[in-house]
Amino acid sequence: MSDFIISIDQGTTSSRAVLFSAEGNILVIAQTEFPQYFPEQGWVEHDPIEILNSTYAVMDDIFNCDELKNGRVVGIGITNQRETSVVWDKKTGIPIYNAIVWQDKRTTGVCEELKNRGLDEYTKLTTGLLIDPYFSGTKVAWILDHVDGARERAIKGELCFGTIDSWLLYNLTNKEVHATDFSNASRTMMFDITSLKWDEKMLSFLRVPIEILPKVFPSSCVFGHYKSIDFGEIPIASIMGDQQSALFGQGCFTAGSAKNTYGTGCFMLMNTGTEIPSSTSGLLNTIAWQINGVTTYALEGSVFIAGSALQWLRDGLSILEDVELSSEIAERESSLNPDSSVIVVPYFAGIGSPYWDMYARGAIYGLTRDSGRESIIRATLESLAFQSQDVLQAMQEDSGISIFKLQVDGGASANDYLMQFQANILGVEVERPVNLESTAAGVAYMAAITLGYLTIDDISNLNQAEELFKPSKSIEWRMRKTKIWNDAVKRTVTNL
Ligand code: ADP
Repeated sequence: MSDFIISIDQGTTSSRAVLFSAEGNILVIAQTEFPQYFPEQGWVEHDPIEILNSTYAVMDDIFNCDELKNGRVVGIGITNQRETSVVWDKKTGIPIYNAIVWQDKRTTGVCEELKNRGLDEYTKLTTGLLIDPYFSGTKVAWILDHVDGARERAIKGELCFGTIDSWLLYNLTNKEVHATDFSNASRTMMFDITSLKWDEKMLSFLRVPIEILPKVFPSSCVFGHYKSIDFGEIPIASIMGDQQSALFGQGCFTAGSAKNTYGTGCFMLMNTGTEIPSSTSGLLNTIAWQINGVTTYALEGSVFIAGSALQWLRDGLSILEDVELSSEIAERESSLNPDSSVIVVPYFAGIGSPYWDMYARGAIYGLTRDSGRESIIRATLESLAFQSQDVLQAMQEDSGISIFKLQVDGGASANDYLMQFQANILGVEVERPVNLESTAAGVAYMAAITLGYLTIDDISNLNQAEELFKPSKSIEWRMRKTKIWNDAVKRTVTNL
């Protein structure tokens, strides 16, 4: 009889459940996409029930897989799209509004007001974040302001707020547990990352009643139990936001180690140990995880539009049949036109790190008469690497640490052209694990730690096969390309 751990990875575009052996090896992946809703310009919503049903569907696939015929599930870990906010009725568990997704910009005006009141510095010092619609705080307030009677019910303690981890936990525990972990709480703009408590001042600035907030626990602990048909009560033994989980899954346990995830957005995180370095370059301080009372922090650069720019080529412009074809197309186009100066700046929803401009919008520059669909596909792909370069540079400046190798993961990191271009533009090696499921792995490893199956040392010694992309271009090439990108950014960002 073998022991297994299920990792639930609830992402922005799909839900996954992944089966790991208790020793940390990946065995089976189940995945399903769910609908995205864009009710108005700049608004992005998910239906929390659809999120839940897609999660149950992939969990069922895993529970019914052959590998479990001679085994048992001993633990569950949850990792999730962060900041996305749900408010639901405490008794019935019914959401009072759709989930407002991290990409949603409807609270730009409220953020502007908070900035005008001079709250930038307090927010940064307390929460580690910059005032932006990206984070949960203003999204929760919006729901309370726009759903009839919600604010009064919130004050009376009849409603619950949660990020997606809390929403799943509450449902998986049969409405018994309303909680979150430190890494998710640190993305709400309501949590003091030093005292590790909800911050009353931030709550009053945002007008969010404390009664609706979840309890906050370490990332490594038993949050509650899921009653399964075949395996009885299974402990939910870890929770981490997706980016922190990927940092953990990539084995970035020591200060100075960093990873970049290329998913819907692009997120670069560097472990800063127990320190919270101040950032002058538009990076965020965030809680990576807490294990055995020790809190580990990270510096984070967030790029809002990355893989989703490829989806835009596919679904919006209809010039790309399948995102996976973009590597081959870009490769061909770059061998035909090595000196193309077409630049796509995909700031469709403003720009996060390092400029934090809520008002910037996307643009295409450098078109010539012979530019075609392939030039735009290639430039869009390259924009993921350029944006990552901007973040990496900021990270090196803030931390004083030079990064010689970038560890990568996420859906779009499967793209060979992108990875080679990234290595070339940075002039550093890019290391891609053969198993790209670092996000799912993070909480599986963490659950294994909670349940006593693994230690951090065991995880460091797990044999992970990797592919290496080495820089193959001259410094002059890098400088020329970077200059063309920087010029395009200057023309696009409104606050430069
Ligand atoms: P998330 O967890 O944010 O939902 P994933 O890590 O699953 O994201 O990655 C999905 C994203 O990666 C999508 O935006 C998709 O367009 C992009 N993507 C997937 N495969 C490729 C590929 N081969 N080349 C470029 N982009 C890709």
